[in-house]
Amino acid sequence: MAVERTFSIIKPDATRRNLTGRINAVFEQNGLRIVAQKRIWMSRQHAKTFYAVHKDRPFYASLVDFMCSGPVVVQVLEGENAVAKHREVMGATDPAKAADGTIRKLFAESIEANSVHGSDSVENAAIEIAYFFAGYEIVG
Ligand code: GDP
Repeated sequence: MAVERTFSIIKPDATRRNLTGRINAVFEQNGLRIVAQKRIWMSRQHAKTFYAVHKDRPFYASLVDFMCSGPVVVQVLEGENAVAKHREVMGATDPAKAADGTIRKLFAESIEANSVHGSDSVENAAIEIAYFFAGYEIVG
């Protein structure tokens, strides 16, 4: 299996409840190494651009509001098969459908306030990482 990097966000519902360390522990217990991390408050324009793929979905405006409602922690995670592994440990988008032990089952408040974001492909991970991090901020 290849060593990959993926992009992760700990969302405002999780930072508000002081869950950053508990979520990071789940990543680390599952072989994902945090090679970059910073806490930021996303601007509306930043959130709109990041989620532009969803701009025609009925939840887009609400999602953008939510992502700007408090601090987030943006991260680069590295490990074998990191993109798929990360999505596995996050669990299904809707916490009601997420498997036991996943982050969304453990911590998510709703289908929108679902605690974490993870890239869905190696290609998108590279785009998302470059949107938030300069090369010198990523130290493997
Ligand atoms: P993900 O890859 O599992 O994060 O899911 P998607 O890419 O489909 O959706 C992006 C984000 O939009 C999700 O993580 C949720 O925060 C939000 N979202 C997805 N579906 C819904 C929905 O039906 N209603 C609302 N309010 N938000 C949603």
